Amino acid sequence: MNCWHCERPAHGACIFCGRAVCREHVQEMPHIVALYRDAKGNQKAVVTARAVFCGVCEPREDPVEMPELK
Ligand SMILES: [Zn+2]
Ligand SMILES: [Zn+2]
Repeated sequence: MNCWHCERPAHGACIFCGRAVCREHVQEMPHIVALYRDAKGNQKAVVTARAVFCGVCEPREDPVEMPELK
């Protein structure tokens, strides 16, 4: 697969949307791997600090409501 931006061979794929990106165009963004509640009922998140991000797909910090799926 080639880079979404420059069409040279890609080194990775965006964790959010799957677009391929080369080393030159890759960006990094924290990514929440999992959400859970601890024994006290506090919401916790497992986060990778430097996930591969394509720079295009604009992942939102908060889940987006999708009323059209109802
Ligand atoms: Zn590129
Ligand atoms: Zn992406």
